[in-house]
Amino acid sequence: MLSETVNGPASRALALAALSILLVMSTAAGAATCATCGATIKPGSTYYTTKDNTTYCSKSCMNKAILLTCSVCGVRFQKGIQSNGKNFCSNKCLATTFPSCSVCGGKAAEGMQVESRFVCSKCFSTKPKCGSCGMTAECSPLQDGRKLCADCAKTAVMDQKTAEPLFDKARLLMSEKLGMATDSVICFELVDIRELNKLSGNAAAEMEMGLFKHTKITTTTTTSGKNAGVAASGGQKNVRTEDKNSIYILFGLSEAKFMEVAAHEIAHEAARVKWPHLIESPGKSEGFAQFMASRLNHELGRQDMNQRLRNSPDPIYGDGFRRFEKAYAVDGWRGVEELITSATAP
Ligand SMILES: [Zn+2]
Ligand SMILES: [Zn+2]
Ligand SMILES: [Zn+2]
Ligand SMILES: [Zn+2]
Ligand SMILES: [Zn+2]
Repeated sequence: MLSETVNGPASRALALAALSILLVMSTAAGAATCATCGATIKPGSTYYTTKDNTTYCSKSCMNKAILLTCSVCGVRFQKGIQSNGKNFCSNKCLATTFPSCSVCGGKAAEGMQVESRFVCSKCFSTKPKCGSCGMTAECSPLQDGRKLCADCAKTAVMDQKTAEPLFDKARLLMSEKLGMATDSVICFELVDIRELNKLSGNAAAEMEMGLFKHTKITTTTTTSGKNAGVAASGGQKNVRTEDKNSIYILFGLSEAKFMEVAAHEIAHEAARVKWPHLIESPGKSEGFAQFMASRLNHELGRQDMNQRLRNSPDPIYGDGFRRFEKAYAVDGWRGVEELITSATAP
């Protein structure tokens, strides 16, 4: 879960300093000037003065000077609230400036900002998290127990038939736009969470919505000589190794998330071919895969999705991604390659 706490704007009760000042209505002894309108207060006329000896010709002139204006309803007040440098006559007016919860629609001072969406504290602690976008939302259950929000459900990739052309598209874009071409055969399969956990052997990896698996298949064949009877002793052994590349992705992800996860796993396969040593460094390996996923998001005009990758507190995925993004910002693709090939750990 990737989010940051947002506390409501610091607000404080506002009591005007002038309130402690006794307002005196008196009769002017000599000529004075109204501090607000500049009118001359003639001797003998009634005027208002505050403790600091400021004089006003009328109560309305005095109020203009010493009262504050509510930045929401415009009412002039003596006792109110100040928040973020603005004045409010009441909690009700202050509350209109709170962000709206993207789940319940209510205004709330406290909650979580998750990417571009605000979720109030109550919804954040009681509503489920979408298994595709990770947002707190009203969700529907998927067959394997994961939950899916209505937004993600609109484009959810539910079966192998829908997934295959999308996977091919991701691989083509990775090759043509991002230089991640390999001629490997990749077996792609859409799976549920139980299958994915079983395949990855890591049920705790909450972040993993996909898996790249590489196995070497060794086949040993024995060719016998002319005399089949001597095969056991005189036969010739042929050992052949083949690379098997498999990518598994969870069903039920939104199309956008599916493409991001596909890019991540395709990047692992490309890295295996180009930089076989990369796998020894989990931070670099996952950081690179996340970075390539962010580049595909970028190619598809989905830069906003990268905020989630960027904000990840995970020391492998998050830190890894941030290192690659920084290297890219400083030195482009050359910076990325340098980071991959450099000897720095981890
Ligand atoms: Zn005046
Ligand atoms: Zn107000
Ligand atoms: Zn809410
Ligand atoms: Zn969602
Ligand atoms: Zn990975």
